[in-house]
Amino acid sequence: MKVKITETAFRDAHQSLLATRMRTRDMVPIIEEMDKVGYHAIEAWGGATFDTCIRFLNEDPWERLRILKENFTETPLQMLLRGQNLLGYKHYADDIVTKFVEKSYENGIDIFRIFDAMNDIRNMQQSIKVAKEQGAHVQGTISYTISPVHTIDKFVEFAKELEALECDSIAIKDMAGLITPSVVFELVTRLKEETDLLVNLHSHCTSGMTPISYYAACQAGVDILDTAISPIAWGTSQPPTESIVASLQGTEFDTGLDLKALNQIKKYFETLREKYEGYIDPISERIDTDVLMYQIPGGMLSNLISQLKQQNALDRYQDVLEEMPRVRKDMGYPPLVTPTSQIVGIQAVMNVINGERYKIVSNEVKDYMKGFYGRAPAPINEEIAQKIIGDEERITCRPADLIEPEYENFKKEGEELGIIKKEEDVLTLAMLPPVAKQFLKGDLEEEPFPEVHIGGSGDDDLSAIPTEYSVEVDGDIFDVKIMPTGYMQIGQGSNGNVGPIPGALTASMQGMVLKIKVNTGDKVQKGTVVAVLEAMKMENDIYAEEEGIVEQIFVEEGDTVNAGDNLMLIKPLDE
Ligand code: MN
Repeated sequence: MKVKITETAFRDAHQSLLATRMRTRDMVPIIEEMDKVGYHAIEAWGGATFDTCIRFLNEDPWERLRILKENFTETPLQMLLRGQNLLGYKHYADDIVTKFVEKSYENGIDIFRIFDAMNDIRNMQQSIKVAKEQGAHVQGTISYTISPVHTIDKFVEFAKELEALECDSIAIKDMAGLITPSVVFELVTRLKEETDLLVNLHSHCTSGMTPISYYAACQAGVDILDTAISPIAWGTSQPPTESIVASLQGTEFDTGLDLKALNQIKKYFETLREKYEGYIDPISERIDTDVLMYQIPGGMLSNLISQLKQQNALDRYQDVLEEMPRVRKDMGYPPLVTPTSQIVGIQAVMNVINGERYKIVSNEVKDYMKGFYGRAPAPINEEIAQKIIGDEERITCRPADLIEPEYENFKKEGEELGIIKKEEDVLTLAMLPPVAKQFLKGDLEEEPFPEVHIGGSGDDDLSAIPTEYSVEVDGDIFDVKIMPTGYMQIGQGSNGNVGPIPGALTASMQGMVLKIKVNTGDKVQKGTVVAVLEAMKMENDIYAEEEGIVEQIFVEEGDTVNAGDNLMLIKPLDE
């Protein structure tokens, strides 16, 4: 039986290794060659590509899709879609989901790979239904993870539910590279026996086991493997296309792909890789077996390090590593993939650096505990849930059932701003409102390529060392600043915030001031939410520590603050 290959160069491979920064103009020249290879599909859209296009590259993602479609005349285009989250980080109303899937199909997507971070099928129903109605190939996805409640039986049950929704194939999405050869052998065998679906294995090399697992999957009858052309393979990316093709040549699993043709394509990507060198984080290129211990994807580990550096708490790294599985257990073992990976990761950081577990809790964790992300794989820790949300109402229905239609609102808002030129712009606005507004207004410029630092040893020009980085965690891009240790002691905040003011309410962590909910002169109670701080896309309420009057506010919405920066001065009433 022939094994088919899906090439991830234009989506996951550059998302994993090049911070998702590949430009459309660098894709186009090689498409003609790629189109002749005979790939099953090209994964080319979705995931973090949409976000980086409008955040960093000043590229319209819809236009990219149309250009790709014009040039790939033979090979199907595949996208990765986060179910009810689409390409954003929260659930959308069904009308947005419908429009988004329709427009994606219309602009060129042939295969929709649809997943939900919780493996809650209710979060996938709408996008699956609409994609099927368009006539697309729908790939239902199992977000693979390891926990006491994630068994092969459960995964197979889930696949059967996806089959009942008329999915055409099933993807095993092993985002952290955790699947072992023996597990994949059993899982693929069972899926082939108990469903009529094509089975596609998607994994990452993070743990180092993946090429062996790919071969085990072949032996179990896998239909499709995801690989990346070698210059952007390995590390946190997929196994190399050429190596997998060569390994299977002359066997019953022969892919039929021509190594000579692949070699031409490889040469092109070698030059591209040099061009994008400045984006490559050396950590993402390595095999990191920590993932076997803590089940944390490689990209996320490097991000945790950056976060801890910023909080001046790098010495707590090991504690955070050990806290992650505990938080995950408290939350009922969600698979760690966007957005749950960020939700769990940041909570673990907060639990450690605040010296008390769940003393500070992001709004996302609160929503999770209330059921707004869907059904947790295992019961959540009731004691922790009580501490976090008390007796607040919890939901058990499909979360999107509670979301009112919102397409017309976004349309109206966009039109009033004069930034809607086509229907797709409304969807862009809905995905990432603040970023999209700037992009659609035309205020964005393509970011320059980062400089590559060569040599290093004799170079003591500190000013040339970049201190601001974009870090990719499991597909999402975070801007981080690296500061010398002792920074806080110097007392200079990033926005000119000078030193600690006695009695002032300060930021508990580095982040952006999303909302200020009070004005000077307002009276607040102990526990009043006075501001919302966003850190790594998690929203954190900042509470007044005691009853008082807001005397001075030191920050504005949109300001970036560091841990310890003054936010506002609340004068206690009894003074
Ligand atoms: Mn992936």
